[in-house]
Amino acid sequence: MNVPELNRLLKNVSVPGTRQMANRVAGKPESIDLTLGQPDFPVPQAVRNRVMQAVDNEPMKYSHNRGTLELRKAITDFYKDKYSAEYEPSNEVIVTNGGSEALDTIFRTIINPGDEVIMPAPIYTGYEPIVTMLGGTAVLVDTTETGFIPTVQKLEAAMTQRTKAVLLNYPNNPTGAVYPEGTVASLVELFKRHDIFVVVDEMYAENTLDGEHHSFTSYPEIKDRLLAVNGLSKSHAMTGWRIGWLLASAEMIEKLTLVHLYNTLCASMPSQIAALEALTGAADVPAEMNAAYKERRDYIYRRLVDMGLETVLPEGAFYIFPSIKEYNESSFDFAVELLEEAGVAVVPGAAFSEYGEGHIRISFATGMENLEEAADRMEKFLNGKK
Ligand code: PLP
Repeated sequence: MNVPELNRLLKNVSVPGTRQMANRVAGKPESIDLTLGQPDFPVPQAVRNRVMQAVDNEPMKYSHNRGTLELRKAITDFYKDKYSAEYEPSNEVIVTNGGSEALDTIFRTIINPGDEVIMPAPIYTGYEPIVTMLGGTAVLVDTTETGFIPTVQKLEAAMTQRTKAVLLNYPNNPTGAVYPEGTVASLVELFKRHDIFVVVDEMYAENTLDGEHHSFTSYPEIKDRLLAVNGLSKSHAMTGWRIGWLLASAEMIEKLTLVHLYNTLCASMPSQIAALEALTGAADVPAEMNAAYKERRDYIYRRLVDMGLETVLPEGAFYIFPSIKEYNESSFDFAVELLEEAGVAVVPGAAFSEYGEGHIRISFATGMENLEEAADRMEKFLNGKK
């Protein structure tokens, strides 16, 4: 029997470059893996304790489709305290299965075939496939000339009659770029002039290493078009627990809830209980992790600069994105050689769109010893290339 034809849009989607590189490194135990997109810290003890106790004593049935009210209130309280953002727990937040489901729910709610979504690039590998699978188009805007931060002019120039949304991510994966307050304020002015949705992925907001995260949720004047995504995967080292959320106006949440509920009914209950504990009993954890990330960031930045690589200092997340353009080869070839010859695994910049080409992404979500050894190996490798 012939297998029936699949969804044709799948032809435009392939396995992300991050995963391809992680698979290559899996068979090389002696190599140092700097491809990792997840914190190397344990899940906070308070979170683990709370879940163990809950599993024995609580029913763990379905929750409300939008998540337990206690957790939704903890999320909206967090946004109120941190960003002076006013969101109603009852009808302006949905708890999702990770940030990924929040993004998927958003685009399935707003995209019609032919719609365009503007994405400042380099971009996270997960974005383009979601939009493509809906028959939409990702319109990439180059940020490599402006420290990986988009400008009002370039975003506005990319807008057309078909533009449905802009998707912003900061602290950024893969560049570690953070938007200054002035940039956020000027983008708010831009978005006030255009009838488009503003989707902001704040998954790394708690991993802002210098200064404060400036959130679009602090600007009520664009609340009607703002869709904000966040979660605990990065902030609390809870990638496998699959807890994220999205914030939006009550009108939008009504529609978003339909998509979310027919997809998944509700987020996992044990993880929702864990998430409530993370936001209330383990609120200091991100700052503790950031102290370690900062030390590692400063170290690896200095080493890369000393190796002669043009590198933007990342102000958030746990990635650094040096240029390898002077070596005149594709980022994929460079990364494969670095792995085969020096035993250091990194992600080729091209995995993050054409605007990532000429770079590599190094994750510093790993211990100092690993970073030191990797930097030594890399330096030797580069000296051999000169
Ligand atoms: N957004 C960005 C920018 C990410 O880097 C990731 C994961 O690496 C996600 C979203 C997905 O988050 P989650 O693991 O909570 O689904």
